[in-house]
Amino acid sequence: MEMNAAIKAELISIGAVDIDPLLLGRLTIPTAGPGAGGKAFFFRSGRHRVRLIVDEGSPLRAVKDNGEIVILKGGKELVRGTIEEELIHCPEQAYITMSERCIYDCKFCPVPKLKGKVKSTEELLALVKEAHSLGRMKGISITSGVEISPEKEVERAVELVKKLKKYNVPIGVSVYPTKDSSRLLKEAGATEIKYNVETMDREIYDKYCKKPPLDFTLECLKDAVKIFGKNHVYTNFIVGLGEADETVEKYYEELAEMGVIPIIRAVGVHPLRFGELDVERPTKERLLKLAKMAKKILDKYGLDAGAAKTMCLPCTGCDLNPHIDL
Ligand code: SF4
Repeated sequence: MEMNAAIKAELISIGAVDIDPLLLGRLTIPTAGPGAGGKAFFFRSGRHRVRLIVDEGSPLRAVKDNGEIVILKGGKELVRGTIEEELIHCPEQAYITMSERCIYDCKFCPVPKLKGKVKSTEELLALVKEAHSLGRMKGISITSGVEISPEKEVERAVELVKKLKKYNVPIGVSVYPTKDSSRLLKEAGATEIKYNVETMDREIYDKYCKKPPLDFTLECLKDAVKIFGKNHVYTNFIVGLGEADETVEKYYEELAEMGVIPIIRAVGVHPLRFGELDVERPTKERLLKLAKMAKKILDKYGLDAGAAKTMCLPCTGCDLNPHIDL
């Protein structure tokens, strides 16, 4: 059976599959964001794609059958498709991470605990060059933890964007914002931007987001829409931290009204964060319901989640894109 929105919602909700690593192609281990440090692969079926973590304990099992990969649930076929190779982190983009460490300590993110590498500009340029040589690079995305200060990361991203313009592909940047990060990145040549609110529930934000206040990010998002325009500004909105669907809907609309496209992201707990937060991975029903709600709101404000060229919206690995998956 080919994947559809309901099957994809179920796969996201479970998030992991038991698969023989020998069946997987070229893999990169993500070094930023909630999935950092885990082994995962991209599964493509029909017009849908999903990124799944490799986990022997998953209720889903994947096997090879007739040249395809079949995902089984309770021994029965749930969906069949193929494995898509990555360029860097995702299939059609070079998605690079500048600093694999962070001075903040948001409880849902493993990066501060990983204390990873800070890549030099030369190293990052070499990575993109290699990805480009594979011939499938449709976009470049840049992200980062905060090594010293948000200003320093923006400065590095600006320098990098200027050097990456020669590839003539859209460049998206997702960093912690600063007062003038949107202007600086736009002038450098970035085409899309993502500043993550993480959650819009103030109480949950105060409990788990150990970075500067949410209102600052919101101000920066507003400013970003003025500079980058409609359909070019995004934010991750995590669900599963204890927020109500009504809260998600209310604030999803607030963001959309500002011209920002929120990405509804199912919470995941990295092993390094076990015990630090109380979460409930959203069910497939909840994910589908929220995606439908998102589509209605985006349509109301004339926003198109299918128009994005970089980062998570065109990748669709971790979320239901309301205009691609529904
Ligand atoms: S959806 Fe975003 S976080 Fe997930 S694999 Fe794609 S680019 Fe990475």
